[in-house]
Amino acid sequence: MDRMFAPWRIEWVERDAPDEETGCVFCAFEAAEADRENRVVARSDRGLVLLNNYPYNPGHVMVIPARHTGEYAGLSDEELLDHARLKRRTFRAMETAFSPDGFNAGYNLGRGAGGSIDDHLHAHVVPRWEGDTNFMPVIGETKVIVQALEETYDRLYDAFGGLDGAEASDDGAVRFG
Ligand SMILES: [Zn+2]
Repeated sequence: MDRMFAPWRIEWVERDAPDEETGCVFCAFEAAEADRENRVVARSDRGLVLLNNYPYNPGHVMVIPARHTGEYAGLSDEELLDHARLKRRTFRAMETAFSPDGFNAGYNLGRGAGGSIDDHLHAHVVPRWEGDTNFMPVIGETKVIVQALEETYDRLYDAFGGLDGAEASDDGAVRFG
């Protein structure tokens, strides 16, 4: 699996300069404006939803609190509420966009848990379909994965845009106040 997505990993690293202050690519996405290019599909006051460039499954996103911290227990009540609401919106958008049979959702907290970016919290949300374990080996070509990511972005963007409280924008992510 890692070998199959190696080209993506390289592209991710080359394209995405980390934030100068924190050295963190999530912080760079938070501050950047090129949401579609960066595959930031939705934003709240205190967070963002980012497509994973090397997904476990089509539609795999990360829901990320804006503040640079790896401590879930250190989030304020306001940050927790914003984060939870953005996750709820993500589940709803995915139901509309992909009609999955289920979800995997969770965190890798700390270096020992195997997270690749362990100093900035992010919740993985992965839609699942019965029998989907056979899907990934089929899309072994990078070109196919790029097309799949762009289609995934468009479908999720439209689904987020249809939710209560969504504010459309011309080129940026769907915004929730
Ligand atoms: Zn960060």
